[in-house]
Amino acid sequence: MTAQLIDGNALAAQVRTQVAQRVKGLAAHGLQPGLAVILVGDDPASAVYVKHKVTDCEGAGMRSVLERYPATMAESDLLARVRALNADESIHGILVQMPLPKHIDPQHVIATISPTKDVDGFHVANAGALVVGRPGFKACTPYGCMKLIETTGVPLRGKHAVVIGRSNTVGKPMALMLLQANATVTVCHSGTVDLAAHTRSADIIVAAVGRRDTVRADMVKPGAIVIDVGMNRNDAGKLCGDVDFAAVREVAGWITPVPGGVGPMTRAMLLVNTLEAAERLVA
Ligand code: NAP
Repeated sequence: MTAQLIDGNALAAQVRTQVAQRVKGLAAHGLQPGLAVILVGDDPASAVYVKHKVTDCEGAGMRSVLERYPATMAESDLLARVRALNADESIHGILVQMPLPKHIDPQHVIATISPTKDVDGFHVANAGALVVGRPGFKACTPYGCMKLIETTGVPLRGKHAVVIGRSNTVGKPMALMLLQANATVTVCHSGTVDLAAHTRSADIIVAAVGRRDTVRADMVKPGAIVIDVGMNRNDAGKLCGDVDFAAVREVAGWITPVPGGVGPMTRAMLLVNTLEAAERLVA
């Protein structure tokens, strides 16, 4: 059996089109959604990510503001900028690109972003809303994974989902979203004994580890949905995920590629969150 490919690029394009239509709808209220992106330091990968986020916004008819600061920026100055953006009515979403230089505590920064503008969904108010099943901004990567899983049409109620990884930004919110969708969820991490024993009984596997070939073909139940969040490099320097794609696609029912799977949907869900932050003002 060769798995069906879940095309993240195509789904993200659909989402962006829908967002652009809703942005036009907001114009009737005199509102243009605005995203502020703050980049501290000169990490080349981060610079590429923020450039994409800004381009995506503009493509959807939103306003975007990119603020770049040197790696030496004091934490107090960054927090002051965040507070200023919290008070800026033309800005509906604030994103501070991670990782930050070591002298800045990311938790201080996240806690300073107004929960109503926290379009990354990292603030404890939004993370807590997910825990108790209340509306809030959902973290973009797991939110995008849920949309990718939805395209399979497989009902999640009663299915066994295994999430590999338990970071606050991917693994934990992913597990909560799957639980909310009535899956039975197992969360694996570096302390898990016999990862394969868990994944072999999974109807859905979400791999968010950051280590290539973490999920091999003999670890996958035939027909399973496999979502690959990982971003790694293979020996040839090519981007690859956490899943041994070539082998696992011969066993799984559905699979996301890397690149072209989760990455584009993460970016698309940031647009959705920013749009919804603005829409809340006219709801
Ligand atoms: P992270 O904070 O480093 O978390 C990695 C998780 O993997 C941890 O919970 C860790 O367990 C677990 N882990 C490590 N080795 C393991 C093993 N051998 N077996 C089982 N679990 C293991 O990383 P992250 O931020 O969640 O990101 C994960 C990956 O996704 C990275 O490659 C990242 O680049 C990628 N990513 C992609 C996107 C996208 O848009 N495509 C977005 C975000 C992240 P412990 O908790 O026990 O240490």
